[in-house]
Amino acid sequence: MQHTVSPVGIVRSCFKEKFAIPRQPQLAPAARGVLELLPPFDQGDAVEGLEQVSHVWLLFLFHQALEDRPRLKVRPPRLGGNKSMGVFATRATHRPNGIGQSVVRLEGVEPGRLLLSGIDLLDGTPVLDIKPYVPYADSVTEASNLMASEAPEPISVQWSEGALPQAHTHALRLGEPLVELIEQCLAQDPRPAYQVPPPERVYGVKFWDVQVRWHYAQPDVIRVLEVAPE
Ligand code: SAM
Repeated sequence: MQHTVSPVGIVRSCFKEKFAIPRQPQLAPAARGVLELLPPFDQGDAVEGLEQVSHVWLLFLFHQALEDRPRLKVRPPRLGGNKSMGVFATRATHRPNGIGQSVVRLEGVEPGRLLLSGIDLLDGTPVLDIKPYVPYADSVTEASNLMASEAPEPISVQWSEGALPQAHTHALRLGEPLVELIEQCLAQDPRPAYQVPPPERVYGVKFWDVQVRWHYAQPDVIRVLEVAPE
């Protein structure tokens, strides 16, 4: 059976590239975005009642990881990127129908727009459906996952003298919690697990409209070097 789906909305996100997006939602509460609903769902009727809900499930398309040939095994970054697992045992982006799911915080409901935080979604992500989180059914107290039993241990994020004032300035301009966003995302240690970067290697990523540059002062200590407009 084949069935065509079409997006109900598009996410406008703080994340402009895949690198340094947390690997799951909720890991960076300062990661914010807006879900812009598409017609006919951009009318108030479609979101009536949603103001009673703190979190929603988003079902979305990994639109920048779509592939023609399905993979049976993937190498999840969580396992160091060098061990393969059955695709259905992981939350990898490369999957049969390219569908992702995330529980995110609903900060506000407006006709045609949902304000979100705690997202792990790239800018431009097409959303296929939105469902309210139902605590009694969706939170399974005895659940276990031996591959990912705990959130990854955050690493230390320090600021160079010039970078913190830069981040505060851009946070004020954007009206966004940029300092927290940088700290929370970099604490997830975005580098591929197999890389042991020398201190002179500089990494960079775009959050909102600013470029953030950092290096590894020690293997598990990130030092933010610069927060500058692109
Ligand atoms: N929570 C979702 C899930 O379990 O289905 C996503 C998990 S996936 C491991 C998270 C990664 O997906 C992020 O780190 C980001 O790099 C990537 N990602 C987010 N949005 C994407 C998109 N629209 N297309 C491709 N990759 C995306």
